[in-house]
Amino acid sequence: MTNIQQNIDAVLQRIAKACNKAQRNPQEVTLLAVTKTVSPELIKIAVAAGHRHFGENYVSEGVEKIANLQSETKAFGLVWHCIGPVQSNKTRLVAEHFDWVHSIDRLKIAQRLNDQRPIDAKPLQVCIQVNIDGGANKSGIAPDEVQALAQAIQHLPRMQLRGIMIIPEPTTDLIAAQAVNKRARDLFDALNTLGFKLDTLSMGMSSDLEPAIASGSTMVRVGTAIFGARA
Ligand SMILES: *Cc1c(COP(=O)(O)O)cnc(C)c1O
Repeated sequence: MTNIQQNIDAVLQRIAKACNKAQRNPQEVTLLAVTKTVSPELIKIAVAAGHRHFGENYVSEGVEKIANLQSETKAFGLVWHCIGPVQSNKTRLVAEHFDWVHSIDRLKIAQRLNDQRPIDAKPLQVCIQVNIDGGANKSGIAPDEVQALAQAIQHLPRMQLRGIMIIPEPTTDLIAAQAVNKRARDLFDALNTLGFKLDTLSMGMSSDLEPAIASGSTMVRVGTAIFGARA
């Protein structure tokens, strides 16, 4: 077994354990392998290990890799997630090459992605990125603006709204971190109570996937624990 294979197995075991502890079914949690700065050769090892969902932060880097891995994408049904900021001048690349975008935080970007989504492609699967802990200079929409944006996105025919995504400030204060995760979960539940049919709470990374799963995360985004520390 390669390291990457072993690391994926170890992360899947962490997910299973966290689910077990929270009395959740591990099938409810998707592992998204974050491949920023990771070469196509290493991604192919993850594919050979059976992994299918990949997340990229930087649009140009991601599009380059998706092109490089076109035959694997076709043969194995790889799913490509854009998890980084999307600028207006990059929306066409995202709309044409990615399956998911987790980082929608304004209507203008959503509209452009919708208009530029190729007609023969499946609707773009999207999450709204929420600035859940009010970090200054941070991407993500304020929690009290999420409902309006969600409503607007629901009217865009080339998009399917799947949920919300958060990137909390790193902290060693476990109680504060738990409170932030819970706030995200409550927002997710509140949106569903309003009638949105959301199934994706994108929350948790290498160092905090257990508490994220305890709070209801359905998708954890893991880079370092699979591919090692980034340069
Ligand atoms: C880099 C990144 C991750 C993965 O972080 P790790 O700590 O390496 O697991 C997850 N989500 C986003 C948005 C990222 O930029």
